[in-house]
Formats: sequence, structure tokens, C-alpha cells
Amino acid sequence: MAFEIERVQALEVLDSRGRPTLSVTIELADGTHAEAGVPSGASTGTREAVELRDGDPARFGGAGVLTAVGNVNGELNATLSGRPWDDLAEVDQAMRDLDGTPNKARLGANAIIGTSMALARALATSAGRPLYEWLPGFGQPARLPVPCFNVLNGGAHAPNPLDFQEFMVCPLGAPSMAEAVRAGAEVYQALRRRLVAGGHATGLGDEGGFAPDLAEPEEVLELIVASIQDAGYPLGTTGVGIALDPAASEFYADGGYTVSGSRLSSADLIARYAAMLERFPIWSIEDGLGEQDAGGWQQLTAALGERVQLVGDDNFCTNPAIIAAAIEDGIANAALIKVNQIGTVTETLEAMRICHEASYGQMVSHRSGETPDTFIADLAVATGCGQLKTGAPARGERVAKYNRLIQIAAERPDLPYGLGR
Ligand code: PGA
Ligand code: ZN
Repeated sequence: MAFEIERVQALEVLDSRGRPTLSVTIELADGTHAEAGVPSGASTGTREAVELRDGDPARFGGAGVLTAVGNVNGELNATLSGRPWDDLAEVDQAMRDLDGTPNKARLGANAIIGTSMALARALATSAGRPLYEWLPGFGQPARLPVPCFNVLNGGAHAPNPLDFQEFMVCPLGAPSMAEAVRAGAEVYQALRRRLVAGGHATGLGDEGGFAPDLAEPEEVLELIVASIQDAGYPLGTTGVGIALDPAASEFYADGGYTVSGSRLSSADLIARYAAMLERFPIWSIEDGLGEQDAGGWQQLTAALGERVQLVGDDNFCTNPAIIAAAIEDGIANAALIKVNQIGTVTETLEAMRICHEASYGQMVSHRSGETPDTFIADLAVATGCGQLKTGAPARGERVAKYNRLIQIAAERPDLPYGLGR
């Protein structure tokens, strides 16, 4: 059904790290208002759509977003308002055409994704539908995703000596969404008790996971396994499994990897993952190798792709064309999905459709810099992808997404929970 946009407006607000980001508000001609908050990453892929920052050292150390805000209030508002549109896809395409670059560098992917998310939300509201019902799928029926709780942070998200960025607990065998969130929160508290007992600091990293002074990934995995058991859950598919995001691009240099001071080749690191799979209930590894190491990724996929989910993030950047090429090249068997990596909702859905058609998994994801916006919870449900990572079960901007999933589950008790495979 055709619609008209009355006004698009943006503000410079703060994200969860205290850095500037955009809040975009859309008003439709029928009077509907909707707002969206734009996420922001710290360990970014080099081929991500461009997050436009002012670069003015006098404001926020150069991280201000007033240029992007001006692009929303100026060019985007002028182009989008006061004429009829058919659907979100048409508006997303018009924004890409207006930007004119392949990576949204002129207007800013932050300006464009905020507008795209706010419009999706406005159109859902205008249609009287919840966002998770309104967002178009692509053949996968809606389902409630396994929440992947990042309970221990390292890498670019914490100032500790841990090279691996994320250790997630995933209640694969939970009987319901609410029980899954409960399991994540109980394991998190059990881990806190173990850290305190071990004399470790319990300060938090950027995604709300603990950031103790530990360096060896295996030591962390032992602690997490013990915490899952303390909380009374079985390990693995019938209970709580573990997902890793080493974010290996961050510790790759000069053709090799440095993990807790040791230098490793791609083959060494693959062997280390294989050994971890033997010892720990790991079901998913994201960015196990660096985005620069395509050959290593092929070896990793050939060696472990039958045994574990291998998720491409830094190397894929939610980019439909890059993912399609990687599928051809036998790289990974799943993709991380971050709306601001590609910069429109339509292209995000296209990336997920390509994954679905190649039987690649899709894990919807937050960024380390977040707002209370819960768009990604609805996106994960609508697309039926079965997996959402959105940080620890702590800190308001992370918890908001998990609480949204609990609300959706209460509204739609008919929806199945879990990976769906
Ligand atoms: P980022 O990290 O949001 O800081 O990029 C998340 C990830 O690597 O998955
Ligand atoms: Zn990642």
C-alpha cells in the first residue's frame, strides 16, 4: 500500500559507550511517528558500509555525527518526504541512489540505516502490526531465536589480556524463550560467583560480559562450563552450549595469529579449535580466522565445517555480494547479520535470503555500541533465523533486546523456540 513520509529528523544522542550516534524519527503523512537508534561497532570489518563521523577534534574527539544528522535533516528529508512510495525497499533504493557510493560513504551508513529502521517501524505501526509480524521474511517461518549471551569479554571490548573477544552461553535446549533468558541470567550470576571466588575482577566489558584478567581461552572455557553446571543446566544441545567470537582479525598480523603471546599459523589455530571442540560444548565459532586470511578460512571450513557452525562477520559484513562469493568459495557455513554493516533493512534481508538459499545459518547481532532500540529482536523473530546475539544478560541496552523477546513470546505463544535444525 502506498504511503507518504511527512518528515525525517535526526538527533545526535549517546550510545552505550558514551559515544555519539543518531536517533532518527520518521513521521508519516497519516500521523504515525517512529524512532530508531543506530548501533556502532568497535571491531569492524574493513568492508563495512561507512559510519560517517565528523572528524572535528573539538567535539567528542572527532567522533561527532552532526554531518550525518545534517544529511538526514537535509538531503534525506528533502528527497523522501512529500511524495508517494510503494514500500520500504523502494525508499531504501532511493537512499542508495542519492548517496551514490558503493559503501554509503557520502551520506553515511549511520544516517541511512537509522532512517531505514525508523521507516520499517513506522510502516508496521501504521499497518497496526508488530514489527516482527510486519517485516517481510523469505520462506523461513517466524520463530523465537536462541539468545547468545556474551558473558565474558576480551579483545577490542575489554582492557584485559584476553585476545578472544566473546564467550557466549546459548540455551539451545531451553523449553521456551523465558526459560532461555532465565538460563542465561543464572549462568551469568554463577560465573560472577566463580570469578569472585577465584579472586578475579568482575568489572564489565562493552557488551556487559565480565572482563577478568585471564589470557588463555581454555581457562575461560573451563570457568564457563563449571558455571553452567553450577546453575544446574546440562551441557550442549539439551541444555546450554557455548559460542565463541574470537574476532581473529584483531590478533592477526604479518600472516599469523598471536594468542596470549604465542604465535600461531592458520593451521595451528584450526588445530587449537579442533581440540577445544573435543573438550568443550562449543557449537558455533565466529571469525575464527581473520578477514584477511581467505585461504585459512577455506581450510577451517573444510576441517571443521561439518562439526560446528562457522560464522563469517568481519569477512562478510552482511554484504549480499560478498556472502554470495564466499558461498561459492566454500568459506564458512553461516553469516553474522548486523544491520549497520550494510546500511539498509532491505539489503540486510537480502543477505539473509542468500544465506537461507545456500543453507547457511544466520545469526542476527547487536554491535558493541548500542542504544535501547530493540529492532534486532523483531528482525530475528520475523526472519526465523533461530539465533540472536545481543550481549550479556546485563546492562540496559542489552537486556532491552532479551526483554523484547520475552514480550514477543508472550504475545505469540504459538511461535516455536530454538535453532530450528
Ligand atoms: P563490534 O563487535 O560490534 O565491536 O564490531 C561485535 C562482533 O565482532 O561481533
Ligand atoms: Zn564478530
